[in-house]
Amino acid sequence: MTDPTPDWCSVPNLEWDTPMYRLAVAQLDQTARRMGLDENIWERLRTPQRAHVVSFPFRRDDYERVMTVFGYRVQHLLTMGPTKGGIRYDLDVNLGETTALSMWMTWKCAIVGLPFGGAKGGIRICPRELSQRELQRITRRYTSEIIELIGPDTDIPAPDLGTNEQVMAWIMDTYSQQKGFAVPGVVTGKPIEIGGSHGRLEATGRGVISCVIEALRHRGLDMAGSTIAIQGFGNVARAAATIAQQLGARVVAVSDVAGGVHLPEGLDVYAVGEWLDAQGELKGYPGAEPVTNAELLELPCDVLIPAAIQNQITGENAHRLRCHFVVEGANGPTSLEADAILRQRGVIVVPDILANAGGVTVSYFEWVQGSQQFFWSEEEVNAKLISIMQRAYHAVSEKAEREGVDLRTAALILGIGRVAEAKRRRGVFP
Ligand code: NAD
Repeated sequence: MTDPTPDWCSVPNLEWDTPMYRLAVAQLDQTARRMGLDENIWERLRTPQRAHVVSFPFRRDDYERVMTVFGYRVQHLLTMGPTKGGIRYDLDVNLGETTALSMWMTWKCAIVGLPFGGAKGGIRICPRELSQRELQRITRRYTSEIIELIGPDTDIPAPDLGTNEQVMAWIMDTYSQQKGFAVPGVVTGKPIEIGGSHGRLEATGRGVISCVIEALRHRGLDMAGSTIAIQGFGNVARAAATIAQQLGARVVAVSDVAGGVHLPEGLDVYAVGEWLDAQGELKGYPGAEPVTNAELLELPCDVLIPAAIQNQITGENAHRLRCHFVVEGANGPTSLEADAILRQRGVIVVPDILANAGGVTVSYFEWVQGSQQFFWSEEEVNAKLISIMQRAYHAVSEKAEREGVDLRTAALILGIGRVAEAKRRRGVFP
């Protein structure tokens, strides 16, 4: 029997080495060891197939300053079909973070059975400090910098942290201008008017809530009357909060970058949304207590949904969480150490690679509808999404029970196993 941890596992991959990349690789290594994964495939999966780094200038609105910014597009795996993954605008964007996110996209697509490999992209900027005109110029220049990499048959971006359907429309327009004809299929998560899909905007939040329902049901609990605290109030968090409220749950807290609002009896999610739209921030929302983002995580509730940023539940605060379930809307919100503490405390964690897969699932629907020029109703999209999420949840949960592991390990075993099998079938060129 060979040593279960090969020597190359201890050699840092310097180009990518950041905390988030280390977390993604540690999850892969732990799972590969447990599965007895073919070492050649294991080593291959630890680094992305392609990583593109660009720096480019962009002109501020004063037309005096020209700033240089950094952008990335990483394609982790080209084995399964085109690559797929969001574009993130955030000050934490770097090569390691983008690579970790692309790796999680690979597992995610394999878990829900989509014909894509993982990719991710981003620009290191703070979008909140830029005007819409500046964001448009940056987006168009970034698109032209990565134009040879993306395309409807090769690599298809989508929205992520700090980007939205307007950003996707600018990418689609820039790409189409260069090609000389409209290419809606180059992005998903675009507005309906230019080929977007019904239900895409809420898809990630809807998928998260399907997982909450399944996790509660599995333990004989009901969504109606359950209490849910949600970190974030952006695309994923707001949709999750709205759908949870529609299903009779009490949403006891939500937050934005500056902090959150808390009401144990349950917030009126629509009123909170109207306040945010009018004021631009949650701060000052009447009729609820202010909480910090750190305090929100420790509120008593049935279900905690981190749906903002990574590295929120750590070895430092995992002991203090007072929820029974963590359902990860965000990517990478829980550290390896926190995962072990929560497992030992009996808190069920539904991992990001399963819980937030609703977004890429409806992105896939959008891509299919666009390529056939045949569009579905919102009811059809939502029904197909829920059925895929339920199937994936049960496959993961059955695997967890059969192998005596937690849901994250089971999801990784399924995702990595499917990718490894495809790689084995295709073989090595030449
Ligand atoms: P978003 O930009 O629409 O919203 C982000 C939310 O997080 C906002 O409420 C913002 O105020 C808050 N936030 C930003 N920085 C923060 C900080 N430092 N501390 C606390 N809160 C902060 O982004 P989104 O699309 O909702 O993405 C949220 C998470 O979900 C990300 O991890 C993303 O990768 C993941 N995700 C998104 C999608 C999607 O379809 N958009 C799909 C899968 C996973």
